[in-house]
Amino acid sequence: MNTKLLTQNDIAEAAAILKNGGLVGIPTETVYGLGANGLDPEAVGRIFAAKGRPQDNPLILHVPSADWLSRWCVDVPDRAYRLAERFWPGPLTMILRRGPEVPDVVTAGLDTVGMRCPDHPVTRAIIQAAGVPVAAPSGNTSGRPSPTTAAHMLEDMDGKIDAIVDGGPCAVGVESAIVDLTVDPPRLLRPGGVTLEQLREVLGQVEVDAAVVRPMGAGERPRAPGMKYRHYAPRAPVTVVTGEPENSAAYIAAHANEGDGVICFDEFAGGFPGKSVERLGPAQDKGEQARRVFDALRAFDSTAVPAIWAQCPDPVGIGLAVANRLNKAAGFHIVEA
Ligand code: AMP
Ligand code: MG
Repeated sequence: MNTKLLTQNDIAEAAAILKNGGLVGIPTETVYGLGANGLDPEAVGRIFAAKGRPQDNPLILHVPSADWLSRWCVDVPDRAYRLAERFWPGPLTMILRRGPEVPDVVTAGLDTVGMRCPDHPVTRAIIQAAGVPVAAPSGNTSGRPSPTTAAHMLEDMDGKIDAIVDGGPCAVGVESAIVDLTVDPPRLLRPGGVTLEQLREVLGQVEVDAAVVRPMGAGERPRAPGMKYRHYAPRAPVTVVTGEPENSAAYIAAHANEGDGVICFDEFAGGFPGKSVERLGPAQDKGEQARRVFDALRAFDSTAVPAIWAQCPDPVGIGLAVANRLNKAAGFHIVEA
C-alpha cells in the first residue's frame, strides 16, 4: 500500500478514506493518532494489524464535541460534562459506560469506552466531515515511542496505512490523561496533558491507579488494559535517575559508560563527554520536557547505544506524565540520586 501524505487542506479526502474503511494518521495536540471509523469493526481491526497491537488493549473514540457523548455512551454523569466544559477540546480522555452501538473490537469487550475531543482543528473537522466517532490509538508500532510529528509516524506506518495528515508537530507531546468516571472516586489511569491537580480542581478527590507509579505484577489485571504492556520502549535498556537535577546529572556522569546514551536537562548537556546526548528541555520547563520526551527516546532507536540514562522531573503538574513515560520506557528501573 502506498501511504499518501495529506496536508491540512485535505480534510474531505481524509474523511472519505475513513468513511470507506481506511486508516488515516491524524494530528492531535498530544501525539499523532492512527484513526479508523469507530463504528466499523473491520476498519478498527486494521488498526490492530497495522500497529501489531494486542487485541485486548482498547482504543479511544475521538469526537468533535461533548454533545456526541450521549450518542455513544450511556449514563453520562454530570461530572463528565463539567470536565468537558473545562478541558475539551484538550488532552483528556474520559472512561464512560459504553453505548450499544460501539463495537466490541473498540473496547476489547469492556462495558466502558474511552472518549476524547482532541484540540486540533484539522482533526475535529475531519471527524465532523466523516460523521462518525474516530477510533484512534497512538500512531506508532506497538512497543515504540508515540510519534509527535508526521515524519515519525511515517517511520512506523509507511506502506501500512492509507494516509497521514501532516498537521505540524504536537503541542503537548505526551498522550491524553485518562480518568475513569465509572468508579467512585474517579481514578487517574494514565497521567497526561491535563494534570492530576487540574482534575482535582473540578472533581475533588481523584485516586491515582497503581499502574501509573509501579509495574504491574504477574496475574494483576490493570484498569487501563494498556498499562500492562511495556510501551514506549527504546531498543536499549533505560535507567531513570530521580532527585535534584544536580544530583541526577552527577550520578549519570559517574555511572554511564563511554558510548552510552543520556537524556538530560539542557543545563547539563555539556557534562557527558563521550556519551550520546539528547536534551529534554530546561530543568524547570516540564511542558518542553513533555514535548521532547518521545523524540529523545526515539532518537536512540537509530543508534547502537548499549544503555540509556535519563534525568527525570519531579512528578508535579505535567511532570507526572513525563516521569511516567520515562519510567515505562525503563520498565520502572529507577534509581534515586
Ligand atoms: P493509546 O492511545 O495508544 O495510548 O491507547 C489508548 C489507551 O487508552 C490504552 O492505554 C488503553 O488501555 C486505554 N483505554 C482505552 N479504552 C479504555 C477503557 N474502556 N478502559 C480503560 N482504559 C482504556
Ligand atoms: Mg499508544
